Amino acid sequence: MKNVLNFLFPRYCWICGKRLQIGEKHLCVQCLLNLPLTHYHSQLSNPMEQLFWGLIPIERANAFFFYEKEGRVSQILYHIKYYNHPEVGEYIAETMSVEQLSFFKDIDYVIAVPINKIRKRKRGYNQSDYLARGISKATGIPVLDKVLSRVVSTDTQTRKNRQERAENVFSAFTLHPSFSIDQLRNKHVLLVDDVCTTGATLKAAAEPLCKVPGIRISILSMAVVKI
Ligand SMILES: [Zn+2]
Repeated sequence: MKNVLNFLFPRYCWICGKRLQIGEKHLCVQCLLNLPLTHYHSQLSNPMEQLFWGLIPIERANAFFFYEKEGRVSQILYHIKYYNHPEVGEYIAETMSVEQLSFFKDIDYVIAVPINKIRKRKRGYNQSDYLARGISKATGIPVLDKVLSRVVSTDTQTRKNRQERAENVFSAFTLHPSFSIDQLRNKHVLLVDDVCTTGATLKAAAEPLCKVPGIRISILSMAVVKI
């Protein structure tokens, strides 16, 4: 049946445009293997972790890929964000998480960094929710929704440089009104985002969580700008 479907409805790789073989999903094996891996999952005190040193206490940090402007990862992220294909992100997050299971040890919940309401209404979805779902599929760790709310921030913009401002325009977070602190007391949570540039967004998202007694926070971004 799969053979027939593949013949009638050929599918193509998002990156190179080559026809996908049976068993391949969204990306051909070659493109998947050639993505620029960071290998941060097995590296203590990796550069991603160092971004947060002295700013917020985190357990560990990881990014699957290096992000380069107009590179293959940015191509994938573009599809995920603007071409209505978040399932590609879910697939990649699942595939990568299976390869890096040791990173997820002791984590109790996966929490996606929310996008603000206006953006969500426009796009129809939050791409990081799909990344969280892919991680959950691979690890069995449940996704926790409605923990954080993202609000439009207007203050303190003048003190930041251009790159920080660009990343930070919508980067103020509060605890969601329906969230109960007891739910995360003494738990280890993984905050998930799509791209990490300066770490400002992830730091802002982690800040309200730090109010929860005994909480431990780890961070994972699908891609990180080479530090
Ligand atoms: Zn390909």
